[in-house]
Amino acid sequence: MKYIREFRDPSLAKELIKEIRRECNGATYRIMEICGGHTHAFYRFGLVDLLHPHIELLHGPGCPVCVLPTGRLDQAIALSQQDTVLLATYGDMIRVPGTMGSLATAAATGSDVRIVYSPIDALRLAEAHPDKKVVFFAIGFETTAPATAVTLLHARERSVRNFFVFCNHVRLIPAMRALLDSPQTVLDGFIGPGHVSTVIGAVAWEGIVKDYGKGVVISGFEPLDLLQAVWMLVRQLKSGQPRVEVQYTRSVRYNGNPVALSLMDQVFEVRETFEWRGLGWIPDSGFKIAAHLSDWDAEVQFSIQEMPSREPKGCLCGDVLRGVKKPWECPLFDNPCSPERPIGACMVSSEGACAAVYHHARHSHFVRRKLSKTSR
Ligand code: SF4
Repeated sequence: MKYIREFRDPSLAKELIKEIRRECNGATYRIMEICGGHTHAFYRFGLVDLLHPHIELLHGPGCPVCVLPTGRLDQAIALSQQDTVLLATYGDMIRVPGTMGSLATAAATGSDVRIVYSPIDALRLAEAHPDKKVVFFAIGFETTAPATAVTLLHARERSVRNFFVFCNHVRLIPAMRALLDSPQTVLDGFIGPGHVSTVIGAVAWEGIVKDYGKGVVISGFEPLDLLQAVWMLVRQLKSGQPRVEVQYTRSVRYNGNPVALSLMDQVFEVRETFEWRGLGWIPDSGFKIAAHLSDWDAEVQFSIQEMPSREPKGCLCGDVLRGVKKPWECPLFDNPCSPERPIGACMVSSEGACAAVYHHARHSHFVRRKLSKTSR
């Protein structure tokens, strides 16, 4: 397939691997890939094996479904149980276990829960069902926040008064700061997320380099993208001059996407604090809907009780999201936790680290060795 095959060329991949090994020269670098899409690509294309033992990959808090704490999910489930509410959200959210079941189990017991591919689909549902209060359960980083923002502006323009947004959008950079402030975080540099950075720009990472001395290379999602990004990062680390570099130049601009940033500015305000699974409450890390759009804000228009977050018993998602534990170190991995019967969010989402290891373990001697050592 044109424009895909070029990024999966095996001979170029071999050259890059050779170069990475040569640059590492016997050393092992601990690199965190923040984005769940990158985590899956590293496993799916067998790059974890090819980079071992020169590169140890740590999986970061970049899976949007995984980082949402159970308290916010429980609030969405409670909302879906209110009379006349139709709750719309992305497919990945439906099976994530909350404290007392998931949105799927709520649907099975009478809630009207629908999967949508974009917030605009949720707005269309509101227009098609004037008898319903359609709540869009909005999750995700700065990647998906602009789509929610533009949908809210459409709702206002079209005077759709039965459409609401339960806003759970989060901001990545404050979470990265919280992660780096933790003494448990020991790493050499980051593979930066391509999609979030397309919106916020490479410039957003400058503070991480300046304040923490960690290098960042923003990468695309194909195997050659990732290998080139690792190679660039290793060279940076060896030079002792951390900086922000962009490998994914076909998408990421230094100042980001001005249209998307302006839409977010018009629609959102920064929350004082927001809770993350595994990272706790982080100042300035969430968006809420601006006061001038409160007619469409589910948190203002519905009574939504605060709910405490509780991890499922034995689940190590919080540690996995901070890069402190690997999925295979969780005693519940594979038995009983699996994509069919997930116990934690990291096993549900198509961007979750546990799901990545589970789905792609058969391609990886490295993972199979790790799993056999934990005697499963
Ligand atoms: S394997 Fe399952 S229970 Fe363990 S950390 Fe991952 S999602 Fe949680």
